[in-house]
Amino acid sequence: MKITTPQLGGKVALVTGGSRGIGRAIVETLAADGADVTFFYRGNDEAARDTIAAVAAAGGNATAVKVDVTDAAACSAAVEALYERTEAIDILVNNAGVTRDNVLTGMTDAELADVLATNVSGVFNMTRAVAPFMVSRRRGTIVNLSSVSAQKGGRGQTNYAASKGAIESFTKALAVELAARRIRVNCVAPGVIETEMSEAVRDAAGDEVKSRILLRRFGQPQDVANVVWFLATPLADYMTGQVVHVDGGFKME
Ligand code: NDP
Repeated sequence: MKITTPQLGGKVALVTGGSRGIGRAIVETLAADGADVTFFYRGNDEAARDTIAAVAAAGGNATAVKVDVTDAAACSAAVEALYERTEAIDILVNNAGVTRDNVLTGMTDAELADVLATNVSGVFNMTRAVAPFMVSRRRGTIVNLSSVSAQKGGRGQTNYAASKGAIESFTKALAVELAARRIRVNCVAPGVIETEMSEAVRDAAGDEVKSRILLRRFGQPQDVANVVWFLATPLADYMTGQVVHVDGGFKME
C-alpha cells in the first residue's frame, strides 16, 4: 500500500487535556497532518492559548474549549456544540488525566475521588457523549491514554494504577461493542514522559528510574503523539482493542 500524506485531511478530532504535555503534542501532531482539532482543558487558559498559537504558526487549525471532563453535562453540551459546527467527529483522544500519589494507608478520600473522577469517569463522560455521533456515521476511532502503571504498578499509585487498569479494560470492552459500527478503540500506555505530571518522580529518583528503561531515556510527548497519530489514521485500520506500550522498554530487564 502506498502511504499518502496527509492522512487526516478533513478529519475532525477532539482531544481532552490538550493544553499541556502529551495532549498538546497530540493536538499539534493531528493538526499538522490536516485534522481540524478541538481540545478541552480544565483551567490553564495561558497554556491553551500557547497551544493554539503553536498550531496556527505551523499552519494548522485548533480550537480550545474549557471543559472539565468530570462534568458529564458539560461534556455532552460541548460535544453537541462541536458536532453542530463540524457535522462529524472522526477521532476522540481521551488524554486528560491526573495523579494524586500517596501510599494506600495514607490516601485521602479526595485523592482517590479526584483520580477516579478524571481518569475513569472523565473517559466515560466523553466517550458516551461522542460515540452516538460516530455510530450514526458508522465511522470513528477512539484512542485512550493508559499508563505503564496499569501493568507494572508503582509505590504510591494504587489509585492511579487502578484508574489506568480500568481504562485498558474499558478499551477492550468498548472495542467489542463498537466493532460492528466500524469504530476502532485502542489504548496507548506511555512510560515516563517529560511533562509536568512526571516532574516529581523524575526529580526524586530520575537516575534510578532511567536505569530501568531499556532505552535509558525518558520519553518526550512527541514519542507518544506519534503513536496516537498512527492509531487515529487509516494506517491502523486493522487494529482495535489493543494496548500499545510507548515506554522505552520500561522494567523489561
Ligand atoms: P499534564 O499534567 O502535563 O497535562 C494534563 C492535561 O490534562 C492538561 O491539559 C490539563 O488541563 C488536562 N486536564 C486535567 N484534568 C482535567 C479535567 N478534569 N478536565 C479537562 N482537562 C483536564 O499530563 P501529561 O501530559 O503528562 O499526561 C497526559 C496523559 O498521559 C494522562 O492521561 C496521563 O495519565 C498519561 N500518562 C502520562 C505519563 C507521564 O509520564 N507524563 C505516563 C503515563 C501516562 P489544564 O492545563 O487546564 O490543567
